[in-house]
Amino acid sequence: MRLRNIPRAESVLANSEMVIKDERHFRGKWNSEIFHNNHPLHIEVGMGKGQFILTLAEQNPDINYIGIERYSSVLLRAVEKLEVTSDSSSEETVTLHLPNLRFICMDATDLPEVFAENEVSRIYLNFSDPWPKARHARRRLTSAEFFARYDKILIPDGTVEFKTDNRDLFDFSTEQLETSDIWKMTACTYDLHHDPAMNEGNVMTEYEEKFSSMKHPINKLIAARK
Ligand code: SAM
Repeated sequence: MRLRNIPRAESVLANSEMVIKDERHFRGKWNSEIFHNNHPLHIEVGMGKGQFILTLAEQNPDINYIGIERYSSVLLRAVEKLEVTSDSSSEETVTLHLPNLRFICMDATDLPEVFAENEVSRIYLNFSDPWPKARHARRRLTSAEFFARYDKILIPDGTVEFKTDNRDLFDFSTEQLETSDIWKMTACTYDLHHDPAMNEGNVMTEYEEKFSSMKHPINKLIAARK
């Protein structure tokens, strides 16, 4: 993701009711204090500009969604997608409020400080940064270190769904699962868009649209506990 420093990002996010600022305060209380229901909670880690999670939130009002992105300049783009001009004669904007969607600007390293045990039903990882150097492998969102964090917050039959066009990162991810005592792969494809069973209902991310238009095959796996 090419990053630009956008000076207004911090103030726009600070004033947006879609963005949760004191995220650690809501650990264990997301449904009771933020969503006011008992619906399943799904999170996307590294949501980028948000097309995927916005579409899912619109399609599934009975699921609560939290999008996580570490850069304010990127999260700003998702917040702006929800802002529309209220009528053609005015410049005034209103925020489209999806009651089942919130965003957090944070690093995923801190997930267990923000979500309690058994609080999350599903984790989406889409086109995560590859961190190609071996010495940075622990930073990959599908490393054993990150799966240990997911283990702390997912319900017993919770799942991790991962898509990428990066074959090296995908092979690394399948190896992490194959050597794990806790996790197994329940589904795997090396060409999602030509795999009718796995592609059914697929919602494309910004990166997925870009790379599939360049004819890159999209890999997808689903992980669950053994
Ligand atoms: N998921 C989007 C998509 O598929 O279009 C964006 C993909 S982009 C390559 C990866 C995004 O993940 C970037 O916006 C990056 O800032 C974010 N990201 C990477 N590591 C992260 C971490 N540890 N915590 C939170 N966000 C992270």
